[in-house]
Amino acid sequence: MRDPEDAPESIEPLTGDVVRCDACPVLCRIRRGQAGACDRYANEDGRLVRVDPLLILERGAKAVRFYEQGKPWDGTLVAPFVTGVGATTTYPDYKPAPFIVASRAEGVDMVTVVTEGIFSYCGLKLKIDTDRFLGPEQAAVRMAGEQVGHVTTAEYGSQMLSLGGVRHLTGGSKKEGNVTCEALLQLANKEAVELAIDGGSTLRVQAGAPPVVNGAREERMRVGCGSATIGIFARQWHGHADEVIVVDDHITGVLTEHQAGRFLDMRPAGIRVRGRKSTPGRYFKVAEPGLGWGGTDITDPLSIVDRVDPKTAWPGMRLLMVSTTGEDAEWFVLDEALKPQKAPMPEAVSKVVQRIAENCEPALCSVLFMGGAGGSLRAGVTENPVRLTHSVKELITRVTCGGAPVYVWPGGGITVMVDVLRMPERSFGYVPTPALVLPIEFTLPLAAYQAMGGHMDRVVSLEAALRRAQFKAQGWRAENPWPVAK
Ligand code: SF4
Repeated sequence: MRDPEDAPESIEPLTGDVVRCDACPVLCRIRRGQAGACDRYANEDGRLVRVDPLLILERGAKAVRFYEQGKPWDGTLVAPFVTGVGATTTYPDYKPAPFIVASRAEGVDMVTVVTEGIFSYCGLKLKIDTDRFLGPEQAAVRMAGEQVGHVTTAEYGSQMLSLGGVRHLTGGSKKEGNVTCEALLQLANKEAVELAIDGGSTLRVQAGAPPVVNGAREERMRVGCGSATIGIFARQWHGHADEVIVVDDHITGVLTEHQAGRFLDMRPAGIRVRGRKSTPGRYFKVAEPGLGWGGTDITDPLSIVDRVDPKTAWPGMRLLMVSTTGEDAEWFVLDEALKPQKAPMPEAVSKVVQRIAENCEPALCSVLFMGGAGGSLRAGVTENPVRLTHSVKELITRVTCGGAPVYVWPGGGITVMVDVLRMPERSFGYVPTPALVLPIEFTLPLAAYQAMGGHMDRVVSLEAALRRAQFKAQGWRAENPWPVAK
């Protein structure tokens, strides 16, 4: 990733051999045969060109096809949708968006406004399916020693990281901004990155791949918290075990005290676990968070047993201790002194432990891009930008990123979130200000576009749009809704 001030192109005087790129504030002067600081634009025989082809998505198409600019289009494209990938940028949008393309859906004239937006107010939300301790809430997340984000609130079965954001991109040192931009770019383009968390673990994360925590690949996402696991499997344990303790960093469950055990009329077992009792059979903080059983720091399950009540427990009592993924499980029988002794696990109990594992989903990393499209970008769409904001909120305008559906946050602005896995490969770029480049499309009825003050004089047919660009056509992802609907 290059720094704008270090880019040799930016100090080159303009001559016949040099072109100036005005697609972002860096304003590179690019020599013949070379690329600009972001590697997205180049000087090809004295002409400024976008290096990557414009991406067209077709419903039902299987093969990827490339088309040269200016070459006659054979008209064989099937229901094409013009994405923002490779569309070029007009930041800060003192010009209309690069492509404003007419189409027809269900007898209604539609229009799609296509651009590559530049975002410094942006970041990624990472959901990492693991209960293992990644680091304390609010701890710094680092790449190459620079803080690129922080640990945020844990979710059910997952740890969450918030990466990027304008403060790391532009509010710290130049190095912090560049490393943050690089981390965001790699993750958004579905590549793996190595992260380290202050006071916590090291991590290898990649969208759609299992997380690797301190060098160990996570396999399973827990079936539920300890209490939920008790609720799900209580009836299957009944008659095979006298007590089951499901060890979990969040809520450890104790079957005979739990409502599920009471419902089954189970005899109290008298095994008291450490931690803070929340409600019957549900305990918080039985241990510290860690990389052991159920996201705690324990490796010996008996270490969470505070005492065995001699008035209630009995010799020969059968005790299962298990984690919320079924990865860790031990079977004990109480001896004459009421001390739990390890014993071979009966097959009927082992089957239920295996069923816990069977009910765990594969542990994955999910990467959602979040950014604000409610700024100058709107001027590329309409001369009256607030009308685009209203139109998006009223669901008249559909927003997509590389054809993928987005979630638009309520309230002011056009703050969007998109799952990078639903976007085409290598959709994201960067500019060295630093900021990320995101393909974005706004699709709406042509009449609504006219009413909002859209750039009607720039609306072109698909054929005319494609004549202007070198483009690549590939198949539409079936899991994404088709955006051109009235
Ligand atoms: S960084 Fe890229 S987009 Fe910005 S001026 Fe240079 S070549 Fe153009």
